[in-house]
Amino acid sequence: MEQIKTMDVVIDGGMILTMNDDRQVIEKGGITISGDSIVHVLPSDQLPNNLEVKKVINAEGMVVIPGLINAHSHLAMTLFRGLVEDLDLINWLEKVWKYELPSLNEASVRAGSKLALAEMIAGGVTCAHDMYWHYEATMALSEEIGFRLISGPPITGIGEPDFESMVAQARSVLDISKKYHFVHPVIQAHSTYTTTSEMMNAVLELKDEYGVPFTTHASETQSEIETVNDMYGKTPIELIQSYNLLDDKTILAHCVHINDEEIEMLAESGTHVAHCPESNLKLGSGIARIAEMFAAGINICLGTDGAASNNDLDLLGEMRTAALLQKGFYNDPKVLKTIEVLEMATINGAKAYGIDHLTGSIEPGKKADIVLLDFQKPHLTPCKDAYANLIYSATKADVDTVLIDGRIQMEGGELIAFEEDALMAEVRSISEKFV
Ligand SMILES: [Zn+2]
Repeated sequence: MEQIKTMDVVIDGGMILTMNDDRQVIEKGGITISGDSIVHVLPSDQLPNNLEVKKVINAEGMVVIPGLINAHSHLAMTLFRGLVEDLDLINWLEKVWKYELPSLNEASVRAGSKLALAEMIAGGVTCAHDMYWHYEATMALSEEIGFRLISGPPITGIGEPDFESMVAQARSVLDISKKYHFVHPVIQAHSTYTTTSEMMNAVLELKDEYGVPFTTHASETQSEIETVNDMYGKTPIELIQSYNLLDDKTILAHCVHINDEEIEMLAESGTHVAHCPESNLKLGSGIARIAEMFAAGINICLGTDGAASNNDLDLLGEMRTAALLQKGFYNDPKVLKTIEVLEMATINGAKAYGIDHLTGSIEPGKKADIVLLDFQKPHLTPCKDAYANLIYSATKADVDTVLIDGRIQMEGGELIAFEEDALMAEVRSISEKFV
C-alpha cells in the first residue's frame, strides 16, 4: 500500500502563473505545502493521490501568483499619508524631516509599520523592503507577524548622528538580524547627498563583512544631480562607483535621471534598479528610462516608495502605472509587456535582494509565498489573457487569500493577524499631532 503523506495546505483548482524559469502557466493546478515550503506544483489531475491534507483552499475561478515583492519602501511613513502634498523632493524631504526627527519613536514606527503590513498583505504583497528610523521595531514586528522583510541599518548624515556609534549600532543590528527567520538583512545609505565618503566606506566594509546587499536612493531628481555635482564633481552613479559600490549586490532606487553611459555602467556591473513610478510622478521627479534599462539587461524591480509620496503601498496599482507610463513615455505600446511587469513585482525583486532561492515564484522547494485573486468579477471577465487582466484590470480588492511562508495571512478577503479597527485608531491618534 502506498504510504500516506501529510500536507498542511493544498491550493487546488486555480490558474497558476508560476513565474518559474519557463514562466509556466498551469490552467487548472494544485499546489501542495508542507510546513513553510511548496512541495508540488502540478495540474490538479496529476497531484499524488496518497495525500492527507489538513487544509484545502478551493481556488476555482482564482488566479494564483507568487506573493508580490515591494522592492523599495519606507513602511512607517503611513503615519504621514496625505500630510505633505504638492512639493518637489527637496521641499518634501525638509518638511518630512521636520516631522520625523522630533516625533518618531519605536512605538509610533511600530504602529505605522503595522498599518503598512496590513495594507500590503491585503494587496497581495508578501515581502517588502524598508528603510526607516527605528527600523529594529519594524524588524521585530515582521518576525512577529510572519511577513518577509528586507531591512537593515540606514547610514545617513540626516540629523547629524555620531559616526562611530552609528556604525557600531549597524554592526550590532546586522549581528542580531541573523537570528530572524523573516528578516533578510541589507546595509543601506539614504543617498549620496546625505552621506560622506567616510560613511560610504563604512557601508562597503559592512557590505563585505556581512555579505549583505546594499541599497540607496540614486539619481531621483535633476536637482540631486546638480547638488552632488557641486559637492563632488560627479553624478550620484559615478560617485557610487567611485566608492566601489556598483555590483550585483547593489540595488539603486529611482535612477530617473541617468545618461547612456550610466545605463552601461549599471548593466555591466549587474547593479539592480528599484523603479518607483508613482512616487516619481507625484513628486514631479520625472520618468525613468525603464524600457531602455530593460533592453540593456538591467534587472528592474518595482517599489511603491513610502505612503507619504505615493500615497499607498499598492503594488498591483504600481504595476499598471509602470506599464502605462513606459508605453506613453516612449510612444510605443510594445515596451514593457505584462509578463515583464509581473516579473518586476515578483522574481526580479527576489533576485535583486538575493532571496530568489526562497521566494519570487511558485516552485517546489521555495517558501509558500502565494496570492490568490478572485477573477470571478465583472471587470475581470472574460479572461482571455490572465497577465493582461492582472496588470490592467485587477485591483487590490480582488486579492482573496494570501500565504506567507506557508502561513495563511488573509483568507476570503479577511486579514488574520490584525485588529484593523484598533490599528487604524492608534495611527489616527499618533497622526493627530502632525499638523
Ligand atoms: Zn525612498
